[in-house]
Amino acid sequence: MEETVLRLEELLFPSVADVTVLSVDVNDETVRIEACSAAAGAACPGCGSGSGRIHSSYLRFPADVPSAGRRVVLCLRVRRFFCRDASCGRRTFVEQMPGLTRRYSRWTERLRSTLAAVGLALAGRAGARMAGLRT
Ligand SMILES: [Zn+2]
Repeated sequence: MEETVLRLEELLFPSVADVTVLSVDVNDETVRIEACSAAAGAACPGCGSGSGRIHSSYLRFPADVPSAGRRVVLCLRVRRFFCRDASCGRRTFVEQMPGLTRRYSRWTERLRSTLAAVGLALAGRAGARMAGLRT
């Protein structure tokens, strides 16, 4: 008998490459997912040169789309890298996870696109009420 093994990364983040799920904790109200990047390094947004030299890391908590009626709490461990190019204006930069995060955003990309669709369909206060956003 052939056994099917579901990988958590493919189940939880089907459109995100190089992500590792460290843990998933589910209770009645929330799904807490701890994840980090599986990439060896990242490209500097200033000069584009790649770097694998880690300066530090910290946790980000971007809001995500709900799952089966439960609030999803993402705990992303992101790394800050040194830029290798001495002529670059940035000494360090933080990695982004394409398809999941963007710089300065407190929402995941899939939450952003979902809310944009709600906003376009309903517009204004009706869309905010439906999405549960405070105005
Ligand atoms: Zn740079």
